[in-house]
Amino acid sequence: MEKPEKLIVDGKRLDGRGPEELRPLKIQAGALKRADGSAYVELGANKVLAAVYGPRELHPRHMQQPDTAVLRCRYNMAPFSVEERKRPGPDRRSVEISKVIREALEPVVFTKLYPRSGIDVFVEVLQADAGTRTAGITAAAVALADAGVPMRDLVSAVAVGKVDDTIVLDLTKEEDQFGTTDMPVAMLPRKRVITLLQMDGSFIEEEFERALALAMKGCEQIYEAQKQALKARYSIKPEEG
Ligand code: UDP
Repeated sequence: MEKPEKLIVDGKRLDGRGPEELRPLKIQAGALKRADGSAYVELGANKVLAAVYGPRELHPRHMQQPDTAVLRCRYNMAPFSVEERKRPGPDRRSVEISKVIREALEPVVFTKLYPRSGIDVFVEVLQADAGTRTAGITAAAVALADAGVPMRDLVSAVAVGKVDDTIVLDLTKEEDQFGTTDMPVAMLPRKRVITLLQMDGSFIEEEFERALALAMKGCEQIYEAQKQALKARYSIKPEEG
């Protein structure tokens, strides 16, 4: 990808968005037949699937915990999901992202209800354009709800950053690569508790405050779309009684 001269021209980003706009977002709850719960998310050019299995008896058994379920997450990028073919299999980045996704989701799951069990979350990135860890969390939260896993709240996630000295919501790959700062955030929308906050680059304090407020506003929008997706799957239509 070639570095563009400017990422923001006359207050508009290269894809036509204003600084505080999300990319087009589509969420489908229940996209896969064989998983206990699933969700498909498109955010701009990102395409991400999440599949949930469990709660079920955890194997290998030595990993079982007598008083709680164990939440396991695996983030994986398909080889064809990025411009330069990704070598299949786990790497340092996917191990890190799997860990932060688990930590972002764990606080909402009532794990204590399922001793000795495992809940497995698979996040598969089919097409990537920056923000895949946050899109993965958004999809995984809907997939957990779709699986009927008891939860305190959903988890909604989006990245914010700084591009050409402007604080922006939901960075594209181009903005991520050539911008100054990228800060993915996940939030429990009802409790407004942050469960993921990473930062690549830097902010001065005032910028950080503004960026975090913008991320939380973005998460609220994502939350509405997550709820809509779950309602679309589970609401009883009038003709069905
Ligand atoms: N990316 C890539 N090849 C890789 C890893 C990442 O092309 O091996 C791209 C991909 O579009 C990804 C973006 O770089 O979405 C930003 O990656 P980052 O590690 O910041 O994670 P993300 O923003 O996807 O959560």
